This record gives sequence, C-alpha cells and structure tokens, in this order.
Amino acid sequence: MFSRPADSLADTPLAQETRDLLRNCVHCGFCLPACPTYRVTGSELDSPRGRIYLIKEMLEHGRATETARSHLDRCLTCRACETACPSGVQYGRLADLGRELIERQPPSPRAAGTRFVRFALARVATRRALFTPLVRIGQAARPLLPAALKAMLPPPQVTDRNPLAWPAPRRARRMAVLAGCVQPGLAPQINAAAARVLDRLGISLVVARDVGCCGAMEHHLGRTAAALDQVRRNVAASERLLDEGYESIVSTASGCGTFARDYGHALRHDEPAVAARGARVGAATRDLCEVIDPAALERVVGEARQARDDPRGLLDGVRVAWQAPCSLQHGQRSSAVGKVEALLRAAGCELVPTRNPTLCCGSAGTYSILQPDLARELRSRKLDSLLGDRPQVIATANIGCLEHLRQASPVPVRHWIEIVDSILAAR
Ligand code: SF4
Ligand code: SF4
Repeated sequence: MFSRPADSLADTPLAQETRDLLRNCVHCGFCLPACPTYRVTGSELDSPRGRIYLIKEMLEHGRATETARSHLDRCLTCRACETACPSGVQYGRLADLGRELIERQPPSPRAAGTRFVRFALARVATRRALFTPLVRIGQAARPLLPAALKAMLPPPQVTDRNPLAWPAPRRARRMAVLAGCVQPGLAPQINAAAARVLDRLGISLVVARDVGCCGAMEHHLGRTAAALDQVRRNVAASERLLDEGYESIVSTASGCGTFARDYGHALRHDEPAVAARGARVGAATRDLCEVIDPAALERVVGEARQARDDPRGLLDGVRVAWQAPCSLQHGQRSSAVGKVEALLRAAGCELVPTRNPTLCCGSAGTYSILQPDLARELRSRKLDSLLGDRPQVIATANIGCLEHLRQASPVPVRHWIEIVDSILAAR
C-alpha cells in the first residue's frame, strides 16, 4: 500500500516507519475473518484492513479524525490479523504508530469520564505499591461494594495449604520472575506456584528486584514517554540480574512477556548502546512455558506419584480447556505455541477440545474496562467455545484473560502453573 506522508510529518521517524509498514499490505482481506471486532460488528472499519486505511489517511492528511480514533480504540491489539496475514504485515506495530499519531494531534479532547479512567489506569494500575493495597481494601469491604466492582475483585482463595509459600533459593540454576503490576494484587499465588514447580525441577525462582510494570499498559494508552521511562528502568534492573548470573527473566503473564521481549524495538530511537541493552534483556525474557521441559515435568510428576503410592494414577485426568492468550499465540507465536498444552499433558491433564481457539476473550489489557460492551460479547463467545466439552477448569497464561473470564465463567479459571502445582501437591 503506497502512501505519501503529509508535509507536516514527512521527515519524522514516526511518518517514515508508518509508511514503511504500510507498504506490505496488499489489501487482500485475508485478515478479516480472523479479526474479533470484525466478527462482532461486521464493519470494515472494525477490521484490520479498515484500520490500516484509517492509519494511512491520518499519515497523508497529517491529522487524526474521530473515526480513526474510535476504530483504533476498538482494536484489541490481539494481533490475530498478523498470524492470518500472508504478506507479513506487522499490524501491532502499525497500530501503535497510529495511536501515537492520534495522541500527537487528537481530533478533540476525550470525554472527561474517559480521561479520568485512562488516567487512573495509567497511574494506579501500573503501580503495584498502590494497586495491591487498594485490592486488599476492596476485598475486605467486599459486602459494601456495588455489584460491578465486586465482580472485578477476585474472592480470597480457600485452600488447605499456603498458596503463597515460596521455596528458599537453594538451586544452582537461578531465574528471576517479573512481579508485574496488577498480578501481585489480584493473583499473588501464580508466581509462588511457579517458584514451587521450578524448585522441583532444580531451578530457583526469585522476584526480579527493582523491575516494575513492564510498560505495556501505559504504552497502549498512548503514554509513550512514560512507558519508555519505565522500560529504561526495567532494562537497567534486569541487566544487573543477568550480570549476576540469572539465566532468564521469566514472565508468568504472557501480555507482559510479549512487551518485554520487544524492549530492543521499544528503545530503537535511544542511543544504540541503550537499544542494544534493551535487546539483550528482551532476548533473555522467557514465558514460563518455555523454561520448563515437558519430559522433566513428566518425570517429576511420576516420582511424586510413586512417593504418594498412587500407581493407578487416581489423580490423573483433570479435564482442562486451554485458553491460549493472544499475546502467547500471536505475540510470541514462534517460541510458545503448543508448549503449555505439552506441559499440561505431561502433568497428566486431559485437554478437552475447544472451538475457535484463536478467538480473543476480550480482555486485552485495559480493553475490558474501556470497551465493556465488545469485551463482554467476546467473552461470552469465548466461554461458549471453551465450555463445549464440559471441562472442570479453564487454564490460561495471562492475568488479564484470567480475571476477565473468571467474572463470567461457571468453572474455575486458573493460570496453568497453578494447575500443575496443585497436581504435584496432591500426589
Ligand atoms: S493486513 Fe495482510 S491480510 Fe490484511 S489486507 Fe493487508 S495484506 Fe491482506
Ligand atoms: S489486532 Fe485484533 S482486533 Fe485489532 S485489527 Fe488485528 S485482529 Fe482485529
């Protein structure tokens, strides 16, 4: 797709990058059936091709329109269109640039309520020191809360063991896990479960010190400068860990991992040495499913079964529906596809077939809050496709998907590592 940037933008890196990325699109439309918003609304402007045209128009006219903003706001950045595109269009990067064009020259101020919600998401949800206490207060005051807010807060876990028990760092192999921003408040048991499973596999997991929110949330809200400051701080802290001998920076939230893996690209306009440090950290970042070998897990599960005298495998066969987050199946597709399924099978789970495995659940970071109607419709479609074969539990790999699906699911929704950890603990 040929485009000529407006004179006001012509020499800027933003205009040049956008023009280069637009070039690959041949407007074939193969991406349309893969797009969740197009499947719901049937409108070309809610499709990847339609949004690409809107970005081209902004580039050529040098200003944003209300139409472009509203249809880019409705995009989940799920990147299903990238997986479907035969021409290799990097839609995710294009959408980021489109959003940057809009933030530079917005068509009009957003409504006051929307501005407040976006501000609160950017300033509160990204700071775990603020967000976690707020969640705890909300959980304590749950009976007094309005129903909508109550639904958003996970109930406290009822279990016969401490879900936060974290093994002492005693192994020669060491990895550091991203704490993230909302996950410690909403589901602190996930990283603890990861630490227990990795400990059994001979790896000590510690929380990556001084590493904060990955920066994705502010980036997707169009707060590019603030997001990049956060990225630079994370890169400096992660490099110290790598220099101390930690093998990998592990992410248990695939949305954060996808963004962190791209730190080199995020810092591409910095000094080359800074961009190179970002690339080093990005290359050392792994989703949890990549650092566990299914054969090793199967061996550990077998040993645990023998120790528990369960030769008949009475605890085998938990029926699990696997919900592959878009960030894992489209964002990190070359390295992560099929890995969680292999690990769940290695742990003795039965994976039930699901329909429409590529359909987004509608969570998409802040999307479920900023676009609640579309998000609810997508969630309902996703749950239909996951529950068809009556699973006992839905497994996922991203805190956003987990919380969004949990609010409407009749069966529990868990991070897959929690399921593996509870199988190991039960044996
Ligand atoms: S993004 Fe890819 S699949 Fe979609 S219209 Fe362009 S070239 Fe075709
Ligand atoms: S990222 Fe997802 S929602 Fe956005 S255009 Fe692509 S497929 Fe559609």
